[in-house]
Amino acid sequence: MQIFTKAKHVSDDALGLHALNDLPESDRQPVTDHLSRCPHCRQRFAEVREFVSFLRLAAASQTATRPYVIH
Ligand SMILES: [Zn+2]
Repeated sequence: MQIFTKAKHVSDDALGLHALNDLPESDRQPVTDHLSRCPHCRQRFAEVREFVSFLRLAAASQTATRPYVIH
């Protein structure tokens, strides 16, 4: 997987994994470093993180409402 794009920004894949806390240890440091220097990627990371928490919420609420669906 590519961590950085040709434009030297963090790739979407890496941002997604980072939001899930799934980046390999060796890739985490360069990504965190870049995020601390690049407002552009910080903004994108904030959006990815929001999306991830939305997915978690959706998954959680689906589990919670499933019994009503079966009714
Ligand atoms: Zn960047």
